[in-house]
Amino acid sequence: MHYRNLGRSGLKVSELSFGSWVTFNKQVDAQLAEKMFGTCLDAGINFFDNAEGYERGQSEIVMGKALKSLGRSRDSYCVSSKVFFGSNENPLPTQIGLSKKHITEACHQAMERLQVDYLDMYFCHRADKETPISETVWAMHNLVAQGKVLYWGTSEWTAEEITEAYEFAFSNNLTPPTMEQPQYNLLDRDRFENEYGPLYEEYGLGTTIWSPLASGALTGKYLDGIPEGSRASLSGYEWLKKSMVESDRGQNRMKRVSKLVPIAKKLEISMSNLAIAWCLLNKNVSTVILGASKLEQLEENLKSLEVVPLINDAVQKELDSI
Ligand code: NDP
Repeated sequence: MHYRNLGRSGLKVSELSFGSWVTFNKQVDAQLAEKMFGTCLDAGINFFDNAEGYERGQSEIVMGKALKSLGRSRDSYCVSSKVFFGSNENPLPTQIGLSKKHITEACHQAMERLQVDYLDMYFCHRADKETPISETVWAMHNLVAQGKVLYWGTSEWTAEEITEAYEFAFSNNLTPPTMEQPQYNLLDRDRFENEYGPLYEEYGLGTTIWSPLASGALTGKYLDGIPEGSRASLSGYEWLKKSMVESDRGQNRMKRVSKLVPIAKKLEISMSNLAIAWCLLNKNVSTVILGASKLEQLEENLKSLEVVPLINDAVQKELDSI
């Protein structure tokens, strides 16, 4: 495993990390989560991603139990949470968004569920158009000052919103964000590569990228329909099935995925390894967050580290053209 600085901060994060969206509590129980974390830690992974909104807080409970029973030293790994969507099924107005109240209370709740005394990373899961960015920056700064959060960041904010957060923090001597958590994969490149382009140099923005396999689409397993038990087949994720496979957009993306198959074959690597290794080639990626519903998927995806050198300039050009 190699380690990269989280943007301009001193925190060294493993190039591959592990997250729990959809999977924990739905497809993965505490026992399997413990096995997965063991595999991750043995491979050198040191960052585990979570959010208040994942399975309405249950995902954090599963993660907390699994990490606790592994008994590893707290200084050997990092955990995150994200605030915005709330953890209640029918949240009240004070239980969602990025107000000082919700950010503070959600932090305390996440620490309890994860069984930790502080969060290494705390993300604003989306921008909140109804709360001034200045209030959010203050709330995050206070949590950092109290030692409850070490690094705070954003997720899927526009470049303009991120810039506003930095500028407000700098002009008021407050703690600025350290990282963004954006989607980035072979099919979704625009925001990461273009819109955020100037932020890497200007602010040293770190990134913890999500859905490197576009929710599994880039494994090629949806090319002949929707496999039983796969993410797109789950109840509650019909919207994902539509956008991944059934819509015009989904069909268009599947056509492009089918063109990747011969490239992976020629390199004698799996589609998942090709897609994940490609993300690692971008130096503005601090860490690629993996997702897996089965131990074998995680084990396979970890092999991506070994195939990075195979994706040379010629292969990259071919991928770009698709
Ligand atoms: P991926 O795009 O890598 O999708 C992971 C899913 O793909 C797995 O759960 C599994 O689903 C399938 N899969 C993975 N590996 C294989 C394999 N080798 N063979 C076949 N199928 C495979 O990542 P995620 O979408 O899970 O995102 C990763 C993490 O990023 C999340 O856990 C979360 O922490 C974070 N995230 C953050 C978001 C944000 O808004 N900030 C949004 C989304 C994710 P299955 O078996 O069910 O088909």
